[in-house]
Amino acid sequence: MTTKSTYPLGDYQKLYINGAWVSPTDGATFESINPYDESVITHIAKASQDDALQAVQAARHAFDDGEWCTLSGKERAAYLRAIAAKIHENLEYLAYLEVLDNGKPIDEARWDIADTAGCFEFYAQLAEELDDTAETPVVLSDERFDSVARREAVGVAVAIIPWNYPMLMAAWKVAPALAAGCTMVLKPAEATSMTAIELGRIAEKVGLPKGVLNIVTGFGSELGDVLTTHPDVDKVAFTGSVPVGKHIMQKAASNVKNLSLELGGKSAFVVFDDSDIEQAVEWILFGIFWNQGQVCSATSRLLIQNGIYDKLMDRLVAEAKNIRMGSGLDIGVKLGPLVNEKQYRSVLSAINKAQADGIHMATGGKADFVKGYFVAPTIFTDVPTDHELWTTEVFGPVLAVRRFDDEAEAIRLANDSQFGLAAAVMSADDARCQRVARAFCAGIVWINCSQPTFTEAPWGGYKQSGIGRELGEWGLNNYLETKQITRYHSQQAWGWYL
Ligand code: NAD
Repeated sequence: MTTKSTYPLGDYQKLYINGAWVSPTDGATFESINPYDESVITHIAKASQDDALQAVQAARHAFDDGEWCTLSGKERAAYLRAIAAKIHENLEYLAYLEVLDNGKPIDEARWDIADTAGCFEFYAQLAEELDDTAETPVVLSDERFDSVARREAVGVAVAIIPWNYPMLMAAWKVAPALAAGCTMVLKPAEATSMTAIELGRIAEKVGLPKGVLNIVTGFGSELGDVLTTHPDVDKVAFTGSVPVGKHIMQKAASNVKNLSLELGGKSAFVVFDDSDIEQAVEWILFGIFWNQGQVCSATSRLLIQNGIYDKLMDRLVAEAKNIRMGSGLDIGVKLGPLVNEKQYRSVLSAINKAQADGIHMATGGKADFVKGYFVAPTIFTDVPTDHELWTTEVFGPVLAVRRFDDEAEAIRLANDSQFGLAAAVMSADDARCQRVARAFCAGIVWINCSQPTFTEAPWGGYKQSGIGRELGEWGLNNYLETKQITRYHSQQAWGWYL
């Protein structure tokens, strides 16, 4: 049974530049493919480098005009709240588009869209508070001077985002940037462009001043360098893979742009003997199979203490086999297809390689569907620590498991990674959880759970998982510069030359 078979689709063949819907200069489009049945959903505007340049110019003008960044925080907040309200109003439709484009189950998509609206509301509140908090006095050691630290918008920001949470990833960057008073060019991932274009329509409906938000759909390999090197761009905010993140970092170095990176991970989940088995199974499954495992913070490495290992693995494998796969629009489906053929081939190749290398697959592999990019919930056990299944990100529903003896070994294994995005620990002993949480080398740590994400709390990674933090007040600071304004107020002569 499906939740709702169809909604009429909008026009996705235009770019949103300077408050107007324009065709790409060379009229090009590309296909958006439904990963469930491999059909063409629609055609998307394929921006050229010239279009990207125009989008940057529009954002620059909108910033330099000063209209947007000189509005009060309360005034900017009103736009953000209006955007949030429109997202709420269209929640079912937007969630439906996410399922078509990305393949995820509809309940997850609804959750994402509600979070997207929540993100705009949260940053509306921070924008309002900025009216009072933008300037703070600084106490100086010399009484002849006084000083304030003032936070103000960085300028023109470029956001380049991935396909795993299409609209939510846009919100994580657009909402704080607009709250701060920046103007922006948003480039969504080519696999999932529809809800980004819908965000443009919403911006237009709420009357966002022209040029404040510009949206160019198209290919990162073609548009990326223009957006990340242009001298009129002050800030680049990127979420995506480590290789592209490194490339962007080099490009943005050309004129020392402000840069934030949210990259990949290979996060560990440590489960101690005293854990409740049913709770452990639930959170382990959620940690790796939610969103088909296409989650940067997925706990894709599982460390189980010896005493609980056999019992826990029996239950885990049984429940992984029970996860219902199918169309994201079907009620009760908990695992949809992977986002596209490229990702499907990449995940299958990681599975095939592990099997060819003799690693034991307890369940999973290629799923039995005639069409669509389905991979079953997959679990490998006793994975060697030097095997790529243990060291590199698969970004799919594939769990690598190992045993451990004691706390010290668990911490060592968990931290032995080039990444440091997230980590999770489960135990009935809270003191132990707190200790392990503090020993993890990771930006996000969960105790007795895995993955719940809150707009209020900082998000980002150690090591090669990125630079900077999104969400919460940290997310707003990403789009603010700090300026000191220092005044000499003494009547005394300075007395150096004169
Ligand atoms: P990707 O790096 O291939 O693409 C991400 C974005 O970068 C897309 O919009 C793409 O068009 C663009 N891009 C590609 N080449 C570019 C270039 N040369 N210059 C500029 N932009 C370019 O990643 P993906 O496959 O879309 O997403 C999966 C990856 O993203 C995973 O590694 C995952 O861990 C990571 N991710 C991280 C987070 C996080 O919060 N840390 C969240 C989601 C995804």
